[in-house]
Amino acid sequence: MATAMVSNIQGYSIHDGPGIRTVVFLQGCPLRCRWCANPENLSARTAVGFLSRLCAGCGKCAGVCPRGAILPGAEKRVDREKCDGCALCADVCFYGALVRYGRERSAEEVFRQVRKDKLFYDASGGGVTVSGGEPLTRPDFVAELFSLCRGEGIATCAETCGCVPRRALEEVRPLTDLFYYDLKLADPEKHREYTGQDNRQILENAAWLAGQGAQILFRQPLIPGINDGEGEIRACAAFLRSLGREDIGLQLMPYHRLGESKYAALDLPCLMAGTPLMAPEEIEAVRQRYESLGVPCTVSK
Ligand code: SF4
Ligand code: SF4
Repeated sequence: MATAMVSNIQGYSIHDGPGIRTVVFLQGCPLRCRWCANPENLSARTAVGFLSRLCAGCGKCAGVCPRGAILPGAEKRVDREKCDGCALCADVCFYGALVRYGRERSAEEVFRQVRKDKLFYDASGGGVTVSGGEPLTRPDFVAELFSLCRGEGIATCAETCGCVPRRALEEVRPLTDLFYYDLKLADPEKHREYTGQDNRQILENAAWLAGQGAQILFRQPLIPGINDGEGEIRACAAFLRSLGREDIGLQLMPYHRLGESKYAALDLPCLMAGTPLMAPEEIEAVRQRYESLGVPCTVSK
């Protein structure tokens, strides 16, 4: 029975595939994208976040911490050098100021939870989506979960960055109705600079998946000054056209700041802090440019 570190199971999502979906967030990712909005999912280990505005100062957390890692009254409440992520402090924090990210869960246990909303999936054309982090770092877990879903007629979707061994895609492809596949940057050196890895494996995997006839929607986090220029747009469009699949389009996901508070809660540096948001007309100009280059293009809501 496969298990994985799960940070969240989010019901009633309408942004992660068709219809109403439950999204299962797995932890662990091979990339370190500067704009990542889910920093709690980068590591595959349990971590605790601290939300100072919710703290009532009751002191319970310090009382249970076995490592003396709670710094009472401090804005940075957790001594990250001492903390081992046991999350005992979050379990006793009545006010939700300490938040646990990550719990090891079996695919069967997750399935029992997600199947409860089958009526909503059936009524809306929805289903279950795995996200992260990079869910295909745990293909055994995803394959088991999706196999159980398929057994009950629940549609499946995997959101992937594609930076995984081919065998991971091979394992889940027969059980996956739809892939949401990230295309962040076409230039390999820029890709390495902004994500920590070049994109060779990602592009090769994308081409393989397209060649297999899989249903794919490419998605691009649209980051001002990084991948919204003419050179990147032309190169990404050329790659997408090279796949030879007219049914495959691109969805732009404009940069937002929703993840910034999580960086602060986890005491992680937010490298994109202060980045200006793109204006709607700038986003629309990029969308139209992709269309003019022969790529069906939409903008996420
Ligand atoms: S248990 Fe929660 S509310 Fe109480 S001091 Fe710790 S963080 Fe603050
Ligand atoms: S996660 Fe565990 S070690 Fe870390 S501060 Fe909380 S109780 Fe202490």
